Amino acid sequence: MKQADVTLFHPLQDRIREILLPSQVLQDRIRQVAQQISADYAGQEIVLLCVLKGAMMFTADLMRHLEPHVVLDFVAVSSYGSATSTSGVVRIQKDVEEQIAGRHVLVVEDIVDTGLTLHYLLANLRLRNPASLKVCCLLDKPDRRRVEVHVDYLGFAIEDRFVIGYGLDFDEHFRNLGYIGIMEEDFV
Ligand code: 5GP
Repeated sequence: MKQADVTLFHPLQDRIREILLPSQVLQDRIRQVAQQISADYAGQEIVLLCVLKGAMMFTADLMRHLEPHVVLDFVAVSSYGSATSTSGVVRIQKDVEEQIAGRHVLVVEDIVDTGLTLHYLLANLRLRNPASLKVCCLLDKPDRRRVEVHVDYLGFAIEDRFVIGYGLDFDEHFRNLGYIGIMEEDFV
């Protein structure tokens, strides 16, 4: 196990069942996705819209490999529900600061699960008339989809398991892990 995959002294470390995506696997795939985005947006400016908090680490790693000019912005959404599933009722907690009308917006999200959060966010952003609106998502759990959401750039499709690490949390724990892990089921 590489250093980036080791959690030192995390109080809830025994709740992590296994490592699903080690750090090196994540980084290799992120580089590939960034190359694809760079090719598609060559010569254009991208408004990179990071969905807080989960996509923060992914956005940081992705953008270092992007060649086009990138303007970074953040949006924070909250969805009501339990700790591990969403209700579909979404609220924008921190809005975009950039004017996005007429600009190429790329939303960077951590994971699409039911799709409800992204569906709501995209509908909201579309009303502001961006020149284009695309989605880059690190993880997708297609089995859980309740509304259709088109993901233009995807890191990994995964099974229906509750994952943590690399920005993704359980009750604000585990965001600082360099890998994606699966939680013990009795804990979720
Ligand atoms: P959706 O609206 O697509 O059901 O849920 C999207 C949000 O739910 C994600 O942005 C993420 O915050 C949270 N979420 C969904 N699945 C997981 C998961 O397996 N682990 C974690 N930590 N969060 C998840």
